[in-house]
Amino acid sequence: MNDLRVNGRRLQEYLVGLSRHGRTAQGGVSRVAYSQADIEGREYTIALMWQAGLQVRVDPVGNIFGCREGSESGAPAILFGSHIDSVPNGGAYDGALGSMAAIEVVQALAEAGYCNRHPLEVAIWADEEGGLIGSRGYVGALSDSDLSASGEDGISLADKIRRIDGHPERIGDAKPADGSITAYVELHVEQGSTLESEGIDIGIVQGFVGINHYDVTITGRADHAGTTPMNARSDALLAAAATVLAVDETVKSIPGEQVGTVGRLCVRPGVPNVVPGEVELTVELRDLEMALIESVWRRIQLKLEEIATGHGIEVAHTLRQSLPGALTDPRIRRAIAKAAEVCCLSSRSMSSGAGHDAQNLARICPAGMIFVPSVGGVSHSPEEHTRPADAENGANVLLQTILQLDQW
Ligand SMILES: [Zn+2]
Repeated sequence: MNDLRVNGRRLQEYLVGLSRHGRTAQGGVSRVAYSQADIEGREYTIALMWQAGLQVRVDPVGNIFGCREGSESGAPAILFGSHIDSVPNGGAYDGALGSMAAIEVVQALAEAGYCNRHPLEVAIWADEEGGLIGSRGYVGALSDSDLSASGEDGISLADKIRRIDGHPERIGDAKPADGSITAYVELHVEQGSTLESEGIDIGIVQGFVGINHYDVTITGRADHAGTTPMNARSDALLAAAATVLAVDETVKSIPGEQVGTVGRLCVRPGVPNVVPGEVELTVELRDLEMALIESVWRRIQLKLEEIATGHGIEVAHTLRQSLPGALTDPRIRRAIAKAAEVCCLSSRSMSSGAGHDAQNLARICPAGMIFVPSVGGVSHSPEEHTRPADAENGANVLLQTILQLDQW
């Protein structure tokens, strides 16, 4: 079974076929969830599932499942897949690779005459880019208020789900019975440049980073920009500039993969001839360990106090939002590492800085994730690309991982 491989050429055909739905003038893909292009992409995917001999169903949230029965009655299913919706003018690999590879894996197993013990279930999660909607619904984390909320287009999420043959009124039925899933595995493009720059074939995702978002308000004094001498000012923007630098320095001052960003700055009164009196800014910190995020924030707070004293201004801050991260299952990580070895591919473990459906699945079953290199680290852009050889490598690692999980 160690010799079993996917058909790389067929995988490329699937990817090209899918990319025709929603293709943009810039060579990207606009398959925004619930749009006509998304619906066509879903039809294309369902047709491929039938071709691969899968039994297809759409759940109440609009997720598509393609099932190949297992030989052992009552055995829990092995779930694997990704999403086919995209951001506007996005790329042809984000989500698409994991989805097409999942179908190719089942087809390769069928052609090899492999008799799976567990049911193999390909999952195509609906509306990933809109906030992991399909997988949230699947794990029972989508509320009535989420469903009734309207987007910018004024249409409720429930009505959108109906467009893709979902039944939002039965959303409670989407959640699988306890113990009915052995594991969930997802192949995805890295969307960053770590693997490419280190020349490594396969990323084994350790977990999904947690995110803390803080609001910082810096209050100085608005003054006439012509008549106030430089030494008599309380310039809130100068203190904000020091804060931006302090966040960058602090995050980089300790080893690790943590990242920190000041992404929004609001200057008041925000006119050319007035010394800025107040600045509001955001600090966003991400890491696998919430404890590390908190300790980085404590260091930043100390610097904020120094900045306040040094600039003669006041600084206030609040934690606006805290999203805990999730870890992948260590046994699945080991299975992926072994699969990479079987395929003679190099691998390293890494965290995922982006959100993925797998982090929702991690709430209800052991979950794992495989990354392959993104050329130049570019994603959510028409320029997004993953080399055919890397796509095939990822699909082979997915296949070899599933063979191991089938022995559980
Ligand atoms: Zn994605």
